[in-house]
Amino acid sequence: MKGQIIRVISNLYTVKIDEQLYGCRARGKFRKDNITPMVGDNVLIDIDENIITDILPRKNELERPVIANVDAAIIVTSLKKPNLDLNLLDKLISIVTYNNIEPAIVLTKADLISDESKKITEELKNYYEMIGIKVFYNTDVAEIIKFVRNKIVVLAGQTGAGKSSLLNRLDDSLDIETNEISEALGRGKHTTRHVELYKIGDGFIADTPGFSALDLKGIDKENLKYTFVEFHNGECKFRDCLHKKEIGCKVKEMVENKEILKSRYDNYLKFLEELEK
Ligand code: ZN
Repeated sequence: MKGQIIRVISNLYTVKIDEQLYGCRARGKFRKDNITPMVGDNVLIDIDENIITDILPRKNELERPVIANVDAAIIVTSLKKPNLDLNLLDKLISIVTYNNIEPAIVLTKADLISDESKKITEELKNYYEMIGIKVFYNTDVAEIIKFVRNKIVVLAGQTGAGKSSLLNRLDDSLDIETNEISEALGRGKHTTRHVELYKIGDGFIADTPGFSALDLKGIDKENLKYTFVEFHNGECKFRDCLHKKEIGCKVKEMVENKEILKSRYDNYLKFLEELEK
């Protein structure tokens, strides 16, 4: 029967088939072939033996946390304490996009900012939405639950941005410790292999923070520009253009005309520099 792995604790896998959960072990053959079933895997199980017999092809897989078939990443972004970090936000958007995962943004701590900052935040929100990224406030519970529908979602974002609070807000029966889940990494339950998907509405959110290694590793500098989706609209006439110092570059023109957000372009140049090192 076909199901999906929603929890791994050491070598014990919980497989969900419709609303039923089955505790399973992996077929010995996997270890011999050096294959490890992952949370998010679509699998075939032998119900009589409680054994995972096959892993269906994955659309993607993350290393940290170890999850397969991730559809979206919610980048939890604090507006204050810690302060809004657009560099980190854009970096996460690039990493996520590069991995064929849909980015979305959840803004937290809007109650701590001034009216002036609220106006700027709204403008930023409009810009990111204009380039096709969903942006929510953490109070938009119904909208976030709707976004998660039929998806496997990971949370990303800086420590203290409110990832665990967001999970609790989305489902108050979860009662996750509000000290940041990322701080638990490498300690406690994370000393044994433990990854779990929480059912939120009709979708799943992983309990461990995604992309804890916040680097651009794996993206080559020629491909970085494709993770800034709004650069495509520019149809820069030079196909190899890095949109850096090239004369006649359409992307640079769009930045000057304020069609591309200056901070986005500046972050692009910073990431490019990081990748060139
Ligand atoms: Zn260009």
